[in-house]
Amino acid sequence: MSIYLNNSKIFPMQRLFPGKPAGLAITINLLFYVFHGIINFMISIVKGTKDILDAEQWQRIEQKALEIFSKYGYREIRTPVFEYTELFSRGVGDTTDIVNKEMYTFEINKHSLTLRPEGTAGVVRSYIENGMSRLSPPVKLWYKGPMFRYERPQAGRQRQFHQVGAELFGVKEAAADAEVILLAVNYLKSLGLNDLEVELNSLGCPDCRENYKKAIKTVLKQELKNLCADCQSRYEKNPLRLLDCKVDGAIFAKAEIQKVIQSDFICGECAAHFSEVKSYLDGFAVKYRRNKQLVRGLDYYNRTVFEIKSDSLGSQNAVCGGGRYDGLVGNLGGADAPAVGWAMGMERLNSLLAPLEPIKSDAYVISNSAADAFRLAEELRIQGLSVEIDLSGKKFTKQLEKASKAANFALIIGEDEMKAGTVSVKNLCTGVQTAVKRKDARWQILLKK
Ligand SMILES: [Zn+2]
Ligand SMILES: [Zn+2]
Repeated sequence: MSIYLNNSKIFPMQRLFPGKPAGLAITINLLFYVFHGIINFMISIVKGTKDILDAEQWQRIEQKALEIFSKYGYREIRTPVFEYTELFSRGVGDTTDIVNKEMYTFEINKHSLTLRPEGTAGVVRSYIENGMSRLSPPVKLWYKGPMFRYERPQAGRQRQFHQVGAELFGVKEAAADAEVILLAVNYLKSLGLNDLEVELNSLGCPDCRENYKKAIKTVLKQELKNLCADCQSRYEKNPLRLLDCKVDGAIFAKAEIQKVIQSDFICGECAAHFSEVKSYLDGFAVKYRRNKQLVRGLDYYNRTVFEIKSDSLGSQNAVCGGGRYDGLVGNLGGADAPAVGWAMGMERLNSLLAPLEPIKSDAYVISNSAADAFRLAEELRIQGLSVEIDLSGKKFTKQLEKASKAANFALIIGEDEMKAGTVSVKNLCTGVQTAVKRKDARWQILLKK
């Protein structure tokens, strides 16, 4: 006679072999548990990504964004994290490192999709698709969220990182450039970052830029073989991008090359636009300096480009980059519309901010009656206070210990208080303790620090 095993909770493989004799089933189940142990190893986080464990710091960055951007009339927009690949190859530019080397691209149902490597292209796509060009300008939008780039890990960069950014559509005048820069500066100041310096340049318009490109190509021709591989491949397609090469600085520092780089090439209109931007900034005491080698990493900029640097950690860090991109909306299939904007890396911002003090609750209710503590805590939470209680039956003294770490006030309901219908309110900072009638206590006032 055979024994049959029917408890599939204890013998999971039994489901696959119903009605088999016990001996066979036990062997199979033993194998299952051994195998289960092998495959159930701990799974680690993906290289280049991070858990955010200091969410309060991030919330501060996000809340300030909402607060400051609202003052300037910006509305938040949330676009999908993936888009058709073509949006980025056209919108970011197919001579950029981002598009050539760093995109997370995958194919689903014969559609090539890409995890967004930056925020502007998606915002512009949405602006066009939702007919925002018909709204009376300026249209002001801001965004925040994760971006994805397949960066080399040794660069210390993350493959999923976060950006906050602002875009202004529909105004070609210099006032828009100036307001967008002021927005960024004031946002950074609101986060406590001072010692800010704006680096500023004008790339001119596509017309006046042509001569400059030609001059740069001519002077670099004899150096071409000495330049890095990236510069060599950009030489024909986008020679301006050579100027911010991080490798070939020594070559670009040569006097005859600097002479061309520093030359004035922009046309009268572009020059007037640029000096107007600068005079607005003068009016608001924003510290800036011209950097003729500032061209920014993306293909679509024209006229104003800028970076904002902060001294907060001793060394100068670029915390913000942006510029004007009047051709992008048309390039992505919309009716031509001028635009200007910027983006900031939120990891970088976070690293520059002073760490927050640990946040304490307003009160911790201490009682031997868990039900009573529960009741008072809920009453106070409804009144808008943050309140904690012991949930695991700890002794009175242990509760008091926990309270001094977790809250500003201890609300003590001992035997005496219970009888008298009172609560002892102990300020955990000063040690001062007072008894109040529980029924008519004005908690909001009592628990003010
Ligand atoms: Zn021009
Ligand atoms: Zn180079």
